[in-house]
Amino acid sequence: MNYQDSRKLQPGRLVIASHNPGKIREIAALLGPYGIEPVSAGSLGLPEPEETGTTFIANAELKALLAADLSGLPALADDSGLCVEALGGDPGIFSARWAGESKDFNIAMQRVEDQLARTGPEAGRDAHFVCALAVAWPDGHMESVEGRVDGALVWPPRGGNGFGYDPVFVPHGHALTFGEMDPEAKHAMSHRADAFAKLTAMLF
Ligand code: IMP
Repeated sequence: MNYQDSRKLQPGRLVIASHNPGKIREIAALLGPYGIEPVSAGSLGLPEPEETGTTFIANAELKALLAADLSGLPALADDSGLCVEALGGDPGIFSARWAGESKDFNIAMQRVEDQLARTGPEAGRDAHFVCALAVAWPDGHMESVEGRVDGALVWPPRGGNGFGYDPVFVPHGHALTFGEMDPEAKHAMSHRADAFAKLTAMLF
């Protein structure tokens, strides 16, 4: 991809529009070498907007834009999820919501499996994770990228590493689920790694 025409990010403060400390640490480590000083949305008292978009990019952009607007600084936001081909891309942008109020991903994984069973074996078990990243500036300009990793779903879930749908996802060309892999191995091939590689190519 050629990112020649995209707006570049200058060294300095960047709001990370997430309230998840794990994500903020990970992003700080990735962008530190470019002279970026991450500031968490929480430390600025910024609200978490409702994710009303119909695509991963739209949700990442609305979160980044609100944070940039309220803080007066450039802001980065992400949105991610699991898309199952035979389910028409579900749970997709609703991946977190399928785990319900209790955020129990055993329930979410079971729901995916139940829906696949109803679809029938001929529909296949292909799936992919998506990670959208958006940067917004206080003047309203935005740049965004989308990363993905393709694989297949297994049942029952396997492995205690990772989070979310990791125990049922085996990336193509591998035998272990993301839940069974070393975190470093997952992080080297994940949708997030793909998205961040595109983001740094675009911004710097
Ligand atoms: P959000 O991007 O924080 O809105 O979360 C999206 C949801 O997608 C998470 O709660 C997980 O359920 C799922 N998800 C996103 N990335 C991954 C991943 O790397 N492994 C497993 N599940 C993921």
